[in-house]
Amino acid sequence: PPKLELSNVSQTYDGARGKTRALGPLSLQVAPGESVAILGPSGCGKSTSLLIACGLLKPTQGGAFVDGAIVTRPRLETGLILQDFGLMPWKTVEQNVGLGLQVRRVSKRERRERVADALARVGLSDFAKAYPAELSGGMRQRLAMARALACDIDLLLMDEPLSALDALLREEMQNMLKRTWREGGYAQVLVTHSIEEAVFLGQRVVVMTPRPGRIAFTLYNSEMQADD
Ligand code: ADP
Ligand code: ADP
Repeated sequence: PPKLELSNVSQTYDGARGKTRALGPLSLQVAPGESVAILGPSGCGKSTSLLIACGLLKPTQGGAFVDGAIVTRPRLETGLILQDFGLMPWKTVEQNVGLGLQVRRVSKRERRERVADALARVGLSDFAKAYPAELSGGMRQRLAMARALACDIDLLLMDEPLSALDALLREEMQNMLKRTWREGGYAQVLVTHSIEEAVFLGQRVVVMTPRPGRIAFTLYNSEMQADD
């Protein structure tokens, strides 16, 4: 089975001004180890589709499946880099990264190594003892990355992980994400509104229609391979 399958999902939100058809119907399969970028205009349901894929949101219709099993709650092997980062403000940078490993029952010694390695990858080693509130938006984004990348994951879901970074850092983090994906062997889905980012990181680029987002067309990116 595919690592991730969104099967005919659609989402309607009940808001103050009535119902919003936010997404779908949308069907998408991501193979083990594959890198897929989802590109679409603001408001087309990209974030919504990731929330469904990670089990944080139950779709109005359809379902998300990982390894053929329906997703009803977050799983440990899915790494998340979401828009609000989900950082714990009362924990330091290294504790924020370490907690994910603790939950996954990684030994204390190995946690230390992996936390240090993940922080070095994203360039936050000097801020290990700082608190999230002391970091800039871009640094918080990188902290959320480090937390996901420190874990043994088979699927990584990213919602505009590079949007708060300046141009130079964005290029650096793009390269880091590609390298880490190649080494890590996990499947990944990257949601972005940057064509450049989608083409740099996606073996397949899924382009969505405006809200409610459906797949408009798919590009197969021969430039982006797992092993070059
Ligand atoms: P994107 O990530 O592509 O910008 P979203 O998935 O965030 O799109 O949102 C899709 C649409 O659903 C937007 O019109 C947004 O305003 C609406 N929406 C998102 N979340 C909610 C919510 N919790 N309640 C009501 N409407 C929402
Ligand atoms: P606890 O209160 O359970 O000891 P903390 O909130 O202090 O946990 O830390 C959360 C996680 O961060 C723990 O898994 C811990 O191992 C990890 N951690 C804390 N300090 C460091 C550090 N200096 N280097 C690496 N990991 C750390």
